[in-house]
Amino acid sequence: MRPAAGRSVSMPLYDYECRRCGEAFEVRASIAEREGGLVPTCPACGSREARQRLTFATIVHQARRPSSLACGPDRGPGCCG
Ligand SMILES: [Zn+2]
Repeated sequence: MRPAAGRSVSMPLYDYECRRCGEAFEVRASIAEREGGLVPTCPACGSREARQRLTFATIVHQARRPSSLACGPDRGPGCCG
């Protein structure tokens, strides 16, 4: 039996983009770390001037519909051909 290796998955990933060189990188930090003033360092140039990028992964995930609604619920019969 291995110890629970998936525990670190609960730490959210944040996308950052370096303002100096444009490098995009990910930072893994807990909510507490982020609330406490997380200052990510660019792995490419070492700059601490990075801004957080917005990711839409969560929104896309929520927008997914069940396949049964794929052809639209308000359309008449035959819309699927
Ligand atoms: Zn950089």
